[in-house]
Amino acid sequence: MSARIEYRKELPVAAEADVLVVGSGPAGLGAAIASARNGARTLLVERYGFLGGNLTAGLVGPCMTSYSLDGRTQLIRGIFEEMVLRMERIGGAIHPSKVAASTEYCGFITYGHDKVTPFDPEAAKLVAMEMCLEAGVELRLHTLVVDAVTSGDVLTGVVAASKSGLEVLRGTVTVDCSADGDVAARAGAPFEMGRPSDGLMQPMTLFFRVANVDDERVKAYVAAHPEDYRPFASIVQQARARGEFPIPRRGVGLYRTLEPGVWRINTTRIQRLAGTSAHDLTQAEIEGRRQVKTLLAFFRKWLPGFERCELLDTAAQIGVRETRRIAGEYTLTLEDLARGTEFDDVVALAGYPVDIHSPTGDGGGATGELETANIYEIPYRCLVPLKVEQLLVAGRSLSATHEALAAVRVMPPAMAMGQAAGTAAALAATTGTPPRRIPVVELQSRLLRQGAYLGERHAVSRTGGRAAPAT
Ligand SMILES: Cc1cc2nc3c(=O)[nH]c(=O)nc-3n(C[C@H](O)[C@H](O)[C@H](O)COP(=O)(O)OP(=O)(O)OC[C@H]3O[C@@H](n4cnc5c(N)ncnc54)[C@H](O)[C@@H]3O)c2cc1C
Repeated sequence: MSARIEYRKELPVAAEADVLVVGSGPAGLGAAIASARNGARTLLVERYGFLGGNLTAGLVGPCMTSYSLDGRTQLIRGIFEEMVLRMERIGGAIHPSKVAASTEYCGFITYGHDKVTPFDPEAAKLVAMEMCLEAGVELRLHTLVVDAVTSGDVLTGVVAASKSGLEVLRGTVTVDCSADGDVAARAGAPFEMGRPSDGLMQPMTLFFRVANVDDERVKAYVAAHPEDYRPFASIVQQARARGEFPIPRRGVGLYRTLEPGVWRINTTRIQRLAGTSAHDLTQAEIEGRRQVKTLLAFFRKWLPGFERCELLDTAAQIGVRETRRIAGEYTLTLEDLARGTEFDDVVALAGYPVDIHSPTGDGGGATGELETANIYEIPYRCLVPLKVEQLLVAGRSLSATHEALAAVRVMPPAMAMGQAAGTAAALAATTGTPPRRIPVVELQSRLLRQGAYLGERHAVSRTGGRAAPAT
């Protein structure tokens, strides 16, 4: 065992709010904006100097579908829809209604990839910030939450580290949108990690963008090779046989962006490491950067259209697909997704399929091997951790099994969950009700009034009619 020392310190309470949101990825943005719009003094804490999480820092994109699996019904509306429309207005996104499956914007993939949202990460940074400020959210950037302050089972604040030193930030209710369940875990909430068989998690990927690609040549090649399971899969196979593709992936994940000649590359793969360990994250960054170098050489030599491509940028941090999944009042399962289980406390709908990148091999992705319904539901109870009071969790660390998480983890459902959690947190904080006991009918009613869609049985007129709650 490594040496340990005792470290005690009295810390200043630097800020107090009704609702404290930790992390500003899609879930945190949804939570903070919704909370402030519902009348709560809201503080959003983010470790980087800009907002967006994987939308920006991770260079992840496009936003996967916000529609039903068949591409017919737009399920994720509300704050997500507002953000997309605002980005589109400044030339920073294409609305998903205009983006069909199998096209270059969705990596030439058909299954589960109808109606994705291509967007520019700089537009996301700007629009996210403006939407938060307009809603009245107080921002605290460059601040990493490192610990939780509790009184018995009640979370009363967090310890934050920044250039200002160590400080306590307090919220009557805290929404953990760190994606890793950092606050929940430190507060003592139970959680699981990895798949049940061996605890391994989905691999990490360092996104990068390349410029100077001949878009038409890429499209023509892919169109002429429908036998490839993923774009360029047969070329990858040949290169691998010659030892020129040492990355455990069967194809290349590549997505055209809004800029001519610029593509996002989702192809590096780093396995068997944990995104909750600084040691593992360091190893992953080193390995990810080496793989980017290898892939650039491979692209230039082997891929039609990429002969003169150049590295534009790499993500600010390695992309982490999976870490802690909190144990909540309810755990969303693959069976729920397959059946489209209807929940009385539904707070978000989604249609993206199960997308598990192999923790050990070269396969995986949204293949349809594990079936999901056309539309499935996420209940409020998946955002309410067991054991710890005054805490909600939204986004990647919700209460779900390894398989179910692999579907709901993408950015549009994360934002919809965030909007639900932020609205619930505001309702709890401003009425003095524990989040576990808020009236869900009132939460659903507020969500509907604020543009969310909860399915036909909760239909509401666009002019603001009342919710028809489940019985
Ligand atoms: C490689 C990869 C490819 C993916 N591809 C797609 C795709 O194409 N389309 C899609 O829609 N989704 C995709 N996803 C999934 C999606 O990006 C994430 O699951 C989603 O962003 C989760 O949203 P979130 O808000 O929970 O977390 P995140 O987006 O990860 O945001 C978490 C935020 O919290 C901050 N934070 C974390 N810890 C702390 C702390 N302790 N203190 C303060 N701040 C903290 C982070 O800096 C970050 O801003 C992909 C994910 C990965 C990793």
